Amino acid sequence: MKISKVDVFQLEWDGESIPGAYDRPIGSGLGPLSAFVRIETEEGLFGLGEASPQLGGYTSLVIIAQNMAPFLIGRDVFDHSVLLDTLLHKCIRLGPHGATSGAIAALDMALWDIKGKALGQPVYQLLGGAWRKELPVYSSIGGNAARSVDEMLREVERRVERDQSRAVKIRFDGERTRVDADLKQDIDKAKALRKLLGDDFLLGFDANNGYSIGGAIRVGRVLEDLGYSWFEEPVQNYHNSAMGEVAQRLDITVSAGEQTYTFQGIKELIEAGVRMIQPDITKFGGITGLKECAALAHAHGVEFVPHQTQPTIAQCANLHVQATVMHLGKPMELADNWERGSVVFENPSQPVRGRLVVPDTPGLGLKFDQGEMSRRSHPVTV
Ligand code: CA
Repeated sequence: MKISKVDVFQLEWDGESIPGAYDRPIGSGLGPLSAFVRIETEEGLFGLGEASPQLGGYTSLVIIAQNMAPFLIGRDVFDHSVLLDTLLHKCIRLGPHGATSGAIAALDMALWDIKGKALGQPVYQLLGGAWRKELPVYSSIGGNAARSVDEMLREVERRVERDQSRAVKIRFDGERTRVDADLKQDIDKAKALRKLLGDDFLLGFDANNGYSIGGAIRVGRVLEDLGYSWFEEPVQNYHNSAMGEVAQRLDITVSAGEQTYTFQGIKELIEAGVRMIQPDITKFGGITGLKECAALAHAHGVEFVPHQTQPTIAQCANLHVQATVMHLGKPMELADNWERGSVVFENPSQPVRGRLVVPDTPGLGLKFDQGEMSRRSHPVTV
């Protein structure tokens, strides 16, 4: 089954960016953007994939169009892994991190989508079968560094009601050039959230890399007393040893990995002491990479809880993977502004009673409005 065409395009959404998402180019005047790839075969089948949308994801799409698509044309879809490992190593000097690994992630999802359609099977079946067909979500609520305690509580109430969730993570998304900016207020917010939702809610606290080692340990001790379930990215993501030190000195589960772009980087985080890994399906490896990370987590006895902020193709691909993971100890992330995807995609943007359902039609099983997708598309050509 030979590849005949590879198209890349940005899709423009209405409304605001997800806090902390960096999903539009600086000064572009465009709305939030997703970065998509569409691969077509000579038989007329097609598959869709999504790259990380950092600054609109344009760089990943150019790398695909210029350096990867010409190689893929005429190749066999079922050589999937050999093709993508070849491309990763051909382009590795552009950086195995970031734009290049996001490009590979998008191609991987699209190839799985095609393989599922060709075989008449949903992707989760090709991955070995589903342990579950519905996944509970947690409401992931960003931008809280800029809110007062009361403003944060009102936003939490709005989201919990809308998402019908029984789990919440507050993200701070603070100014990245400062650390320990307001530890007292952060602690006040952690206490107020527990008081608002009561002891039955599963709670996570995402520092978005905002603390020093000492600041993180001070906040982490409070989170332990309050019964929070995890403490996410307490220190800078590029300081693996600092992340590991915080993880080893606290009892609460410390998590990281959403800004890691290689399988080897995830291994280093685990070796440093991180006990919950959060790879992002759009940032490296796609479906294949996420399954490999699940195996790595399993081998080390650490938790596997993917980072998930893109509510359309990536969320669907994520659902297929997470359905197939035996030990899944946390709900799935449901980020801010998830509704924006529903103007183009019918599924699986919408949680029902706090749960997302894995599509059971062939491939990823995405249903979407092609006309609306075309209207919102900005093709990327080189
Ligand atoms: Ca995070």
